[in-house]
Amino acid sequence: MPVGAAHIAVHDMPDEFELIRRLAATQRGVREDVVLGIGDDGAVLAPTRVSELVAVCDTLVAGRHFPLDTDAFAIGWKALAVNLSDLAAMGAMPQWALLALTLPERDAAWVERFGTGFAALAKMSSVALVGGDTTRGPLTITVTALGAVASGRALRRDGAQVGDHVCIAGVLGEAALGLRAVQAQRRDDPAFAHCIARLDRPEPQLALGQALVGIASACIDVSDGLVADLGHVAIASGVGIRLDLDAIPHPPFELGARLGLDARTIVDLALGGGDDYLLAFTLDPAQIDEVRERVAALGLDLRDIGVVVPGAGVSLITREGGDYVPARAGFNHFGNDDGE
Ligand code: ADP
Ligand code: MG
Repeated sequence: MPVGAAHIAVHDMPDEFELIRRLAATQRGVREDVVLGIGDDGAVLAPTRVSELVAVCDTLVAGRHFPLDTDAFAIGWKALAVNLSDLAAMGAMPQWALLALTLPERDAAWVERFGTGFAALAKMSSVALVGGDTTRGPLTITVTALGAVASGRALRRDGAQVGDHVCIAGVLGEAALGLRAVQAQRRDDPAFAHCIARLDRPEPQLALGQALVGIASACIDVSDGLVADLGHVAIASGVGIRLDLDAIPHPPFELGARLGLDARTIVDLALGGGDDYLLAFTLDPAQIDEVRERVAALGLDLRDIGVVVPGAGVSLITREGGDYVPARAGFNHFGNDDGE
C-alpha cells in the first residue's frame, strides 16, 4: 500500500504506515536518479553511470551487533555504515539503499532518531533510501545497498600476489576498545569518546576504496577482525599473509590500562576485536609511494603492515622474529567460541 494510506489509522499510536511516513520524512531528495522512491510497490531507479552494479546486504541484531543502550541515531548510522564499508571494499560508489526494519514497539520518536542517523551518513555518502519493509519483532535492521563500479574494475579478495604488501589506512582496535568501555559503564568518560564514536558511528572508507580501483590487487573491509578478514583474502587468493606485529597500529596502551586491560589485550583487540570497518588491501610494492600520496590527500596515513607470501593462512611475526598467536582471531557468529 502507498504511504498515504497511513492517514486512515484509527488509533493514536503510530501504525506501520505512519512509522514508514516518519522514517521517509527523515530522508529526502538525496539523488536525482531515483525516479520513484518510497511509497509504491517498488522503487524505480535510473542507473545512468553504472557499468556494473555492486550489491551488498548486512544485518544488525540488537545486543549482538550493538550494545542494547546504543542511541537510535547511532544504530541508524551504523546500519548504513556497515553496508557502505562493503561497497568501499569493492571500490564501488554507493547509490541506493533498502531498509528492512524489525521493531519491538511502535516508537515514533525512536524511528525518527534512527532515520536521522541513517540520513546523516546517507547524505554524506550520496545514498538515497528508496524502499524497505517494516515489521514487528526483536530489534533487527537489515540494509541492502547498491553501488556502481566501472566494468571489470571492482576490487576483489582473490587478486593478492606473492610479494605484494598488505596495507591499511587507520588505527585498528578502537571500536573494540570502545565496546569494552561501554561494557565497563564508561560511556560518558571523555577519554573513550573517540573509541566509542568509532564503535557507534564508523566512517566507511568509500573515497579510499574508489582511489584503490585499478591499483590494489585485493581488498576487504575489516569487520570481524584483521586476522580473520585477511584470512579470507589469503584463501581466495591462494596465498599466505605474514603480518609484522609491530607495524600494526593499535590504541594507546595507557587508554587500555584505564580499563585494566594489559598491552597484550590491546594488541589482540587490534588483531581480532572487529567492528573496525577499515579497508585492508594488497599493493605491488612499486605502487606504495604513489598510493601513500593518494591516501595522504584523503587525510589518511598509509600503514604497510605485512607481505603476501607463498603458502596459506595469516601469520604474525614480532620484531625479534618470533611467531605471535593472538588470543582470538576474530568474530564468527557460528564459530566454536561464538564470539568470545
Ligand atoms: P508493500 O506492501 O507493497 O510491500 P509496504 O506497505 O511494505 O509495501 O511499504 C510501503 C512503502 O514503504 C514501500 O515503498 C516500501 O518500500 C516502503 N518502506 C516500508 N518500510 C520501509 C523502511 N523501513 N524503510 C524504507 N522504506 C520502507
Ligand atoms: Mg506491494
